[in-house]
Amino acid sequence: MSEELKQCRQCKEFVKADAVKCRYCMSILVSFYSLKNPVLKASVIGFAIWLVGFILVMSIAQRFEPKKVTPKEFNFQTSGLVVSNDKLTQRGPTVGIVAELKNNGQDKWSSVDIKAKLLKKDGSVADLLEKSVYNIRPGEIKYFKLTSCCGDKSDPIEFEKYEIFIQDAIYKAQ
Ligand SMILES: [Zn+2]
Repeated sequence: MSEELKQCRQCKEFVKADAVKCRYCMSILVSFYSLKNPVLKASVIGFAIWLVGFILVMSIAQRFEPKKVTPKEFNFQTSGLVVSNDKLTQRGPTVGIVAELKNNGQDKWSSVDIKAKLLKKDGSVADLLEKSVYNIRPGEIKYFKLTSCCGDKSDPIEFEKYEIFIQDAIYKAQ
């Protein structure tokens, strides 16, 4: 019975050539050079190449400053953002306004701040409702609802009419 033997690097005892673990000292005997499986060997090499490539690409990428996109100031006229089909919904003391925001422009907006003033007969503001609509792309329509804040206000808000408008929007870089 002639079995190939190899010497354990740790305890110098002789163990079977294809042993993965030393039976004397329990140390792991597999090294890259002793891998017999060509697929495993290839994948270890492949991973190493990938890793080197990845590090190289990352270090090159770091040398280039990220492209600075000048944020566009929100301009109601040119933005193409339109609020329409607004309807009043009132449940108990809570006033709600449902509406849709359409982006008829060319830009993406990461957030659009919409406000509604509830106006009394004399034109003074009874309440201000706010809502942000996020990530609206060109051509997209998003439905939203503004609601008066409830809390402990038990009396219904008295108002004659409301004005809904876009306060601001934050431009989204591509
Ligand atoms: Zn050993």
